Amino acid sequence: MNNQDIANLLFPDITQTPEDIFARYPKRNLKEGQVVTRFAPSPTGFMHIGNFFQAFISYNLAKNSNGILFLRIEDTDEKREIKEAKKVIYDVLNRFGITFDEYQTLDGKDIGNYGPYVQSQRKDIYKVFAKKLVAEGKAFPCFCKKTEGKEDVLKLRETKFINDDEKEYDPCRDLSYEEVKKHIDNGEKFAIRLKTKHDGKERIKFYDLIKGELEAKANAKDFVILKNDGTPPYAFAHAIDDTLMGTTIVVRGEEYISSAPAHLELFEALGFKPIKYCHNPLIYKLNEEGNRRKISKRYDPESNMLYFPEKGYPNDSVLEYLLNMINSGFEMWRKNNPDKSWKEFKFGTGDITTVAPIFDLVKLNDISKNIIATMSGEELYNNWLDWASEYDKDLAEILKSDKEKYIKLCQMDRDGSSKPRKDIFNYSMMKDYFNYMFERPQTFEILDEDKEKANEFLEYYSKKYKTASSNEEWFENVKTIAGEMGYATDNKLYKQNPEAYKGNVAKACEFIRVAVTGKKNSPTLFTIMSLLGEDETKNRLSHKF
Ligand code: GLU
Repeated sequence: MNNQDIANLLFPDITQTPEDIFARYPKRNLKEGQVVTRFAPSPTGFMHIGNFFQAFISYNLAKNSNGILFLRIEDTDEKREIKEAKKVIYDVLNRFGITFDEYQTLDGKDIGNYGPYVQSQRKDIYKVFAKKLVAEGKAFPCFCKKTEGKEDVLKLRETKFINDDEKEYDPCRDLSYEEVKKHIDNGEKFAIRLKTKHDGKERIKFYDLIKGELEAKANAKDFVILKNDGTPPYAFAHAIDDTLMGTTIVVRGEEYISSAPAHLELFEALGFKPIKYCHNPLIYKLNEEGNRRKISKRYDPESNMLYFPEKGYPNDSVLEYLLNMINSGFEMWRKNNPDKSWKEFKFGTGDITTVAPIFDLVKLNDISKNIIATMSGEELYNNWLDWASEYDKDLAEILKSDKEKYIKLCQMDRDGSSKPRKDIFNYSMMKDYFNYMFERPQTFEILDEDKEKANEFLEYYSKKYKTASSNEEWFENVKTIAGEMGYATDNKLYKQNPEAYKGNVAKACEFIRVAVTGKKNSPTLFTIMSLLGEDETKNRLSHKF
């Protein structure tokens, strides 16, 4: 009785061979330089910014090489409820326009020839390869009770490895056919473990496309490749799927570097060509003391990719910020190419930062302000309305009720004659920013010592005020009225002799602005007053501070 007999005993129903499987996954016909990469999320119900970062890098590497990007759902951990969780993944990717050449639709249809693109539907494939490894003596069944396949330290201890601190050999690694048969006849469940060929003394070198050549201790653990429920842990599924699906570059988080030696041993045992890894740096944040820590689901709302659409950040703001993190050269490129889409910014694996990027909301806001400043009034209105339709339905109704008025509001300072103000960085802040359009101001940014003067000016101004047809006409009116009230209409004269005046026209405008909007700063006052209409404007001007 040999290893092949053990394999047959363990997998009597598996009749296919690896060759049969490979016949279903023909080699991809790629041109020189074309990258095939993938995003392989586990459906956890949460899209962490770090996961998305990885998806976005993959998306760009494929796009920049006219290559192929596919989506593979890694859902072999069946304890989780995955249906809703899968939707979260698709939702985030759709929102940000990350499109895939190959994937499985939410209702289960595979698009592409290398499916199924969902791991739980590939179980038989993994078994074929596990059977082959057992038949070749490179893997073995393990009947230890605790062998769930979770490779966490605790479980490893419970399985009582023969551990001399250099190697971790499992006690089941040399069971005879008879012993295996006895366990099987007893109806015992088994996991399959790789029989590592290393003794804990060797080191290996491998190449990472971002970090260059790395050296590490070779794997010397008999780790689980098939759990006792027949599902593969990450390592085994990764080696098989990325080989069959023709991945040329695996982009994954840096946290996987430490297990790369184990993964590479698997590739070798399976007779596969080693895969090219691109371990991207993780995203950090600075805490209040200025120390860095990984951005975390627990403490940082921005770790959730849905935070950004919820707050109403334009997708491009977020994506451009991520490009900044991937390659600091993006900022200069953007400066030199203000009108181009970020999609034209090309980078390869060698251009990806080796330094952990630090997430900084202020920086994102700056990028976003610039992007929003380039939108036309109508675009801004439409984006604002889209956002409100999802996150603030009452506001959406208001915005729809007088489309023309709100487009004009968004259009303010966007007529090309002056540089648009760069105050707005997301759509959720716009209701507050324009609060004077939705309700009378409740608070007023005015100094106590100015109140009396302002009341006096506004009383006179509101009597004289009439609607103007242009900003120039409006300003001329203000000047005339202010002049009548003893305000300087010529700034030079005012500066020469400030004592002779109650103030200058700018001060008079400030009083009007504060009465109408509550704020000291606002976009063009003339437009705001026209949009509010004469009655409402007069009403506000009659306010007493
Ligand atoms: N499912 C793994 C994860 O979400 C995939 C890692 C990889 O891209 O290979 O971390």
